[in-house]
Amino acid sequence: MTGTMRYSCLRCGVSYPTETAIDSRGCPTCADTAPANLMVVNDGRATARAIPGDTLPSLWRYAGALPCPAESAVSLGEGLTPLISAPAIGAQLGVQHLFVKNEGCNPTWSHKDRFSTVAVSFAKASGAHVVATASSGNAGASLAAYAAYAGLSCVVATFSEAAGPMLAQIRKYGATLVPFAHKEDRWKFIAEGAERFGWFVTSPCHAPVVGSHPVGIAGYKTLAYEIVEQLGGSAPDWCALPVCYGDALIGLWQGFEDLFRGGEIANLPRLIATEVHGSLAAALAGQSDRIPDMTARFRPLAGSIGATRGTYQALKALRQSRGVAVPVGNDGLIELQEAFARKEGVLAELSSVTPLAAIADLRRRNVIGAFDRVVAIVTGSGLKDFDRSTAPDREEPLFRSVSDAWNYLRDEAPGAAFEAVA
Ligand SMILES: [Zn+2]
Repeated sequence: MTGTMRYSCLRCGVSYPTETAIDSRGCPTCADTAPANLMVVNDGRATARAIPGDTLPSLWRYAGALPCPAESAVSLGEGLTPLISAPAIGAQLGVQHLFVKNEGCNPTWSHKDRFSTVAVSFAKASGAHVVATASSGNAGASLAAYAAYAGLSCVVATFSEAAGPMLAQIRKYGATLVPFAHKEDRWKFIAEGAERFGWFVTSPCHAPVVGSHPVGIAGYKTLAYEIVEQLGGSAPDWCALPVCYGDALIGLWQGFEDLFRGGEIANLPRLIATEVHGSLAAALAGQSDRIPDMTARFRPLAGSIGATRGTYQALKALRQSRGVAVPVGNDGLIELQEAFARKEGVLAELSSVTPLAAIADLRRRNVIGAFDRVVAIVTGSGLKDFDRSTAPDREEPLFRSVSDAWNYLRDEAPGAAFEAVA
């Protein structure tokens, strides 16, 4: 980090020097009462503007606002993902101006690459030899890829319910996968690795969870910078994304705040967090900063956001943005994923479909206006959890002749295929 940077507590505002070892317990001053994550703050002339000429084909064009110089970047070309207009699914949800930020276009097919590129660059520059994470999938796959490119070893502690394709992806990058029968053992193992062998741990490894490594979280600010650039220099009215520990949510919010403070945008968006078990919605409904630990009443299809308890950093981003949290269950999720794919050509991971369900819900309740500009962030590709979203009995028959195929189309798939060529 440069000399103008420091860590600052999200809750009490106490500052810490950049040499502070981050151990996922959050701010030492608040730790005994209500722990909160530290954030990277830049007191210098941090800029959220892209580097002139846009010479870097990645989010490192915003290096001026990141805690690492572009020269030490470990980059696979992450960021600069498409923001597409999505009028057809927008009409289904009841909003006229829906945009989709497709983070499935990142190098490892999820938004976690924004985190990993910064965290691994920082770890390598700090002299780390091993990076480690406790991850249910996307974060582990992303960290494994960046570690591979940086020439670092990578340890990913996971648990039995992780989605199969993501585990396969982690193995392909050569990371050491360590699955645990009990979810809580992952943290103990990772924390011991940090203590005994100096592993650079990017994920939470202590309870209660405050969030992931602040350096990686800074990478998520670029989501806001890109959205504003892609919308022609203005912020949307709403920005919706799936939330587990709130790393991307707080990073996104700080990115918008950077632009607002710098006079680049005239208004700040309201944030929508989708969750499974409803801890953030419960916390928002009260006045307290305490987030309840909910009982898991079902096994979520949206496995990437299956945490029963949110974080203070997520709550803070929601409160500051006058945002909302929407619990989304399994009902209708796969159908919505398929409608999205068929209408807009975007195949989203099931957790990334939950923002669409929330937008429909908020529109029905008239929280979102029909003409509001809404951005839904698709955090990951639908290839990531095919084992959860596809049914094995939906395969087409094997045709023994061309006429059999035509008969099948006539009987089973009528429509445009039979329109005569003019
Ligand atoms: Zn504090």
